[in-house]
Amino acid sequence: MTKLHIFSDFDGTISQKDTLVFLATNLGGGAEMVQSIGRLIREGTISLSEGIAAEMRSIRRSFADAEQLLREQVQIDPAFPAFAAWCETKTIPLTILSAGFHQLIDLFIRREEFPRLEILANTLTPNEETGWQCTFRDKSGWGHDKAVAIKAAKKRGEHTIFIGDGLSDRGAAEAADEVFAKHSLIEHCRKTGIKFHEYQTFEDVLKTLQNRF
Ligand SMILES: [Mg+2]
Repeated sequence: MTKLHIFSDFDGTISQKDTLVFLATNLGGGAEMVQSIGRLIREGTISLSEGIAAEMRSIRRSFADAEQLLREQVQIDPAFPAFAAWCETKTIPLTILSAGFHQLIDLFIRREEFPRLEILANTLTPNEETGWQCTFRDKSGWGHDKAVAIKAAKKRGEHTIFIGDGLSDRGAAEAADEVFAKHSLIEHCRKTGIKFHEYQTFEDVLKTLQNRF
């Protein structure tokens, strides 16, 4: 049987709200700044990584403040733990590909609970004086080119499945053998002719895959 490898975005896909948008809106420059940065990114005036760096730099609060607010107001898709457990049972590798940050993902994904889960993300250095600083995984305009890991898996002969929702997922959706899309990723798939499964929650994804694998 074909060897599978499942990749998933984190923000807005596993987490119900985008943690970067949430933090920049609530602890940083505010909703208007987030909207204008989003517009500049969509217009191609600045790269996604430049936009994310500007959003994070606008936060001059402690990480503890951010952690408290995230824990109170952001949840993950309640169906994700069962999905990750199914991958473990089937020994299907599951990799989170994030344009966000390890420190934020770690608040929601407990390593003890999902020991085999791989997380590829950027690194954050919170600083109350200068604003939070970002260290990106690569020099691409995405900060983390999600297609790289997918192309490597394909080279190893794996059938790659990608689950995502947004702008930073476009390259991954183009590279993957199979795509699950929601929100703005749907429009991108339609525009570029990428076939996709539409989903709302990880329960939908699990149902589709369980029938086949
Ligand atoms: Mg996302």
